[in-house]
Amino acid sequence: MSTFDPKAAAKAHQHLHSHLPSEPALRVKSLESLVIERGLIAAETIDNWVEAYREEIGPKRGAKVIARAWVDPDFKARLLANAAAAIKEFKFEGNATGHLQAVENTETVQNIVVCTLCSCYPFSILGMSPVWYKSAAYRSRVVREPRAVLAEFGVTPDEEIAVKVWDSTAELRFIVIPQRPADTEGWSEDALAAIVTRNAMIGSQRVLDPRGVA
Ligand code: FE
Repeated sequence: MSTFDPKAAAKAHQHLHSHLPSEPALRVKSLESLVIERGLIAAETIDNWVEAYREEIGPKRGAKVIARAWVDPDFKARLLANAAAAIKEFKFEGNATGHLQAVENTETVQNIVVCTLCSCYPFSILGMSPVWYKSAAYRSRVVREPRAVLAEFGVTPDEEIAVKVWDSTAELRFIVIPQRPADTEGWSEDALAAIVTRNAMIGSQRVLDPRGVA
């Protein structure tokens, strides 16, 4: 005869719940259904918008900005001084970067970005934010134990490298300028942009891999 195992029951209960959409997801779905039903927006428009952010904008726009900063020191200086103004030089369609600050990785600094309050993210140049960026675990842990969180991403900076955590708000968002990999001298901006990853611009990746891209 089987016996009741409270631990197994709790686990099964949690498992079932983990497969339900989150409350915000359900709310968004309801709103989406309503605006479509009332003819305020077409379902196709929403799909196109999501597609644009996923495929076209992010993270390719950010990668172009980083590549320009690597090849043009004057642009990098402008980017570090006022990232939102510097990015206007690209004339990205529909660009609305707002207040953006660029922070530079160096031999002695690794930057990493979070939004501890919610999920603020420079979506106009990085596109959709990754799921982990929005998770409560990342948001709470990266400020307390950034090195442990970085290690989970496979990033283990030496002790003498300072890890700086930047907390985003609706008014101020961040983009990390990763270090340009060695062996990329003479590369075109497009080739350089192709090796810049989303995670490197958030700061959860330190070393970019130039192999097989040039
Ligand atoms: Fe936020």
